[in-house]
Amino acid sequence: MLSDRALAAFRSALGAERVFDDAATRALYACDETPRRVEPDAVLFPTSHDEVAAVVRIAFEHRIALTPRGAGSGNVGGALPSPGSVVVSFECMRRVLEFDPANRLIVVEPGVVTEEIDRLARGAGLFYPPDPGSSAYCRIGGNLAMNAAGPRAVKYGVTRDYVLGLRAVTGDGREIRTGCRTTKGVTGYDLTRLLVGSGGTLALITEATLKLLPAPEAVATLRVCFAGNHSALDAVGRVMHQSVMPCALEFMDHRAIDAIRPTGAADDLPPGTRALLMVEADGATADLPRQIAALEAALAGDGLLETKSGFTRDDITRLWAARKSLSHAVKQIAPLKINEDVVVPVSELAGFVDFIDHTANAHRLAVVSFGHAGNGNLHVNLMVHPDDADEMERAHLALDAIMLRVLSLGGTLSGEHGIGTEKRRFVPREIDPVTLDLMRAIKRQFDPHGLLNPGKLFPD
Ligand SMILES: Cc1cc2nc3c(=O)[nH]c(=O)nc-3n(C[C@H](O)[C@H](O)[C@H](O)COP(=O)(O)OP(=O)(O)OC[C@H]3O[C@@H](n4cnc5c(N)ncnc54)[C@H](O)[C@@H]3O)c2cc1C
Repeated sequence: MLSDRALAAFRSALGAERVFDDAATRALYACDETPRRVEPDAVLFPTSHDEVAAVVRIAFEHRIALTPRGAGSGNVGGALPSPGSVVVSFECMRRVLEFDPANRLIVVEPGVVTEEIDRLARGAGLFYPPDPGSSAYCRIGGNLAMNAAGPRAVKYGVTRDYVLGLRAVTGDGREIRTGCRTTKGVTGYDLTRLLVGSGGTLALITEATLKLLPAPEAVATLRVCFAGNHSALDAVGRVMHQSVMPCALEFMDHRAIDAIRPTGAADDLPPGTRALLMVEADGATADLPRQIAALEAALAGDGLLETKSGFTRDDITRLWAARKSLSHAVKQIAPLKINEDVVVPVSELAGFVDFIDHTANAHRLAVVSFGHAGNGNLHVNLMVHPDDADEMERAHLALDAIMLRVLSLGGTLSGEHGIGTEKRRFVPREIDPVTLDLMRAIKRQFDPHGLLNPGKLFPD
C-alpha cells in the first residue's frame, strides 16, 4: 500500500481534491476495455505539465509505479494498473494550448478528446486525419501512446505521422522536448517517433504539437457487396494496385454483417451477401467522379454482387455508425471477445482470412473478422465464454496458430491497438533478442527504476 508520506507528498503537490485513494475511485480506475481488473493504490488528476513532473519526482523518490491513463478505451491492458501502482489520469489536462491555422498546427494537452481536435480544425478548413473508432471519447495522450489509427490510415497514415513535437516527463522526473514546430526537421535523433507508440513506458506525455491538413472538399462512399471473403479481399488487392488511393477501405465478413443488422444498415443488402467493403474517396468535388469510376473498375470481378453509391449524408453517417458499433456489437455472439489487431501484406489477406476460418472451425470457435483491409489490418475476434475452460484453452491454441501465421506471412502483431499486457507473450516471436535488449536499454535511459507502466509491452 501507498505510504502515508507518499500520499501526503502527492496531496501537497496537487491539492487534496486531486488525489483519491478511496475504494470507489480505485475500483473505477481498475480496468480498461480488457476484462481484467487490478485496483490501483490511488488515482491522481494533475492539471498541468508542472504537476505531472512533481508527481513523477515523488514517485521516483518513493519508488512508486505509475500507470498513465487517458479514457481507458484501450483494448490491450495498456492502462490496466500494475499491482501497487498509482494511476495518473490525464482527464483534467484538456486544454488546447495553441491553434495556428496559418502554420497548420495545433498544440494540445494529452486529455483532449481526439474528435475535438478534428472539429476545431474543420472550423478553419483543416482536418486532423487519425480517426480511431473511439474518437468520440478516447484522448489524444492515449492515441499518442498507442499510435492509434482508423479507417483513414490507408490514405493519410497513423497518429505518428501527425506529431511534430512532444513535451514529456521521463521516469526520473526530467522534462524533455522532442521534435519541432515545422514540417521538416532533422536535428538529433527522432525521439518523437520513439515516444509515439511506446505505451506510456518511456515518458508521460504532457503536450503534443500536431500537424493538420487542408480538409478535402468532398467525400464519396461506395458500399460493395460480395458473395464471399475471397472475392472481397481479391478486390482489395486490385484497388490497392491502381492509382486512385481510397481514403477508407474497410472489410466485414458475414458474421460482422450479421452483427450490424440491428442498426438497419444491412437491411437492403442483396441476397447472398457474405462480405462487404466500404470504400471512400475524397478530394476536389470535380475530381470525385473520376476517382469513383476508377475504384468501381478495380472492384469489379468474380463474386461482386452490388456496388452502391449515391448515398445521402445521413446514409453515410448511418453506415459509419454501424461500422463503428461493431467493436461492441459482436459481443452479442459471446460475452468475451479475444480481440486481435494483426496486419498482413494486402496480397496475403484472402488466404489469411481462409486460414482464420479454418483454424476457428478446427477448434470449434466463433470468429468475426473485420477491419482496415487497405492496410492489411484485420480485427480478428475470437468469441468465447470465459467460464468455459475447455473453450478458452481451444481459443488460446487457435490464437497461437493465427499469430504464427501472421508472422510467417511477413505481418506484425498489432496495427493500432498496441501490445499492453495482452500481447506481451507473442513479442519475442516478432522481435529478436538483440533488438529487444536494445529496447530494454532505451527504457532504462528514460526510466531508470522501471516505474512507468511496468508489466507492459516487454515480455517477462
Ligand atoms: C469501441 C472502440 C473502438 C476502437 N477503435 C479503435 C480504432 O479504430 N483504432 C485504434 O487505434 N484504436 C481503437 N480503439 C482502442 C483505443 O480507443 C485506442 O487505443 C486509444 O488510443 C486509447 O485512448 P485512451 O485515451 O482511451 O487511452 P487509454 O486506454 O487510457 O491508454 C492507452 C495507453 O496510453 C497510455 N497513456 C495514456 N495517456 C498517456 C500520456 N499522456 N502519456 C503517456 N502514456 C499515456 C496508457 O498508459 C496506455 O498504455 C478502440 C476502442 C474501442 C473501445
